[in-house]
Amino acid sequence: MPHLLILALPVPPRSLETLGALIDARTVQTPFGLVGPLARRHAASASVWILPYFGTPTRTDPRATLWAAKDLGVQRILAIEGMVGLSHDLTRGDIALPIDFIDWTKHQPTTFFEKTGAGYISQKPPFCPNISAAIRQQLPQARPVVYLGDEGPRHETAAEVRMFQQWGAHARGFNLVPETYLAKELELCFAAIGLITAHGADRERAYGKGEVRRATREVLDALPDIFAGLPDPPTCGCNHLQDSARQRGVLTDNWREWK
Ligand SMILES: [Zn+2]
Repeated sequence: MPHLLILALPVPPRSLETLGALIDARTVQTPFGLVGPLARRHAASASVWILPYFGTPTRTDPRATLWAAKDLGVQRILAIEGMVGLSHDLTRGDIALPIDFIDWTKHQPTTFFEKTGAGYISQKPPFCPNISAAIRQQLPQARPVVYLGDEGPRHETAAEVRMFQQWGAHARGFNLVPETYLAKELELCFAAIGLITAHGADRERAYGKGEVRRATREVLDALPDIFAGLPDPPTCGCNHLQDSARQRGVLTDNWREWK
């Protein structure tokens, strides 16, 4: 079963060769728009679809991304995202592991199930425990963060940073929310690795000395072991999140009919 890797930040083109040889490329038509092109790479440890996911504000409808993953037979999604460090102890080049989130988006779809309410799903845990454990294992330096999901494309203000800090948020980004809870609605595993690329507006601007590039390399190098370290079959329960909706007859066994 292939995984889906969402790359919400640019990476050097050749850096993905550690994920195996390129074996396929395609776009996927979904009820929410076209997704792709996605590239598939295959290595002994895992087979992975890769989806570049940056370039706001012309971003893909998040529902299309998750629908395409399901359509491609993917169960597990790992996103790698550039984040703004809101906490003063986070700096450029730090690696982060989101362990919880705050949804501060305002214009994003929030469910696949506007009519049936089948998106009423527990957010404990907020991110897939199997993937998060594999990340923790291979990248022990990753800092656990509460992620603030925002929309942009503008930068945050210093006053907003202070508000986010009071809420308990440590890092801000654009691409994990609503994706993480829409994934749950389709019973997909979703977790993420953050790369801190900037400081919040309440601090001096941090100028780069190659530390983000080095951290990106570290993360990409760890990916084959992260994928290889995932239990098969999954033990996280993400693939059973709609069991009760199915039992109640709200959803059928054919996910393509879900609405
Ligand atoms: Zn899972």
